[in-house]
Amino acid sequence: MKNYELLLREHNLKVTPQRIGILSVLGDMGHVSIEELFTIIRKDFYSISIATLYKNISFMMEVNLLKEVKVPNGKSKYEILKDEHSHMICKKCEKLEDVKVCLDSIVKNISEKSGYMFDDNSLVLSGICPTCQKGTV
Ligand SMILES: [Zn+2]
Ligand SMILES: [Zn+2]
Repeated sequence: MKNYELLLREHNLKVTPQRIGILSVLGDMGHVSIEELFTIIRKDFYSISIATLYKNISFMMEVNLLKEVKVPNGKSKYEILKDEHSHMICKKCEKLEDVKVCLDSIVKNISEKSGYMFDDNSLVLSGICPTCQKGTV
């Protein structure tokens, strides 16, 4: 169990039970969409609104505590910012996973060749995960 209170303090954010709640859900689940987060967080904070939740997420993104992962054709997910990594998503079960490979140099290469400027969230590899390939889901 991580010390989320300390994490908030380190980022100069006010420590509130809701923020600690949000961080512990993200810490346990890895990547969570606003809707998923809302469903879970409401069990503990039944009076919280989705607007309040979103505001808290925005504050924590501003100070680089959270990061948005833009899922192609899907809802954005949020995660606690950690070491550089890329993402892959399964088109069948929609599971989003980290891949501990930094694709920055590849993106940079594409950018140099094409003249495009990419934002750092733009790369999510999509495919079929090993479980779905076996057809057991
Ligand atoms: Zn899958
Ligand atoms: Zn991730």
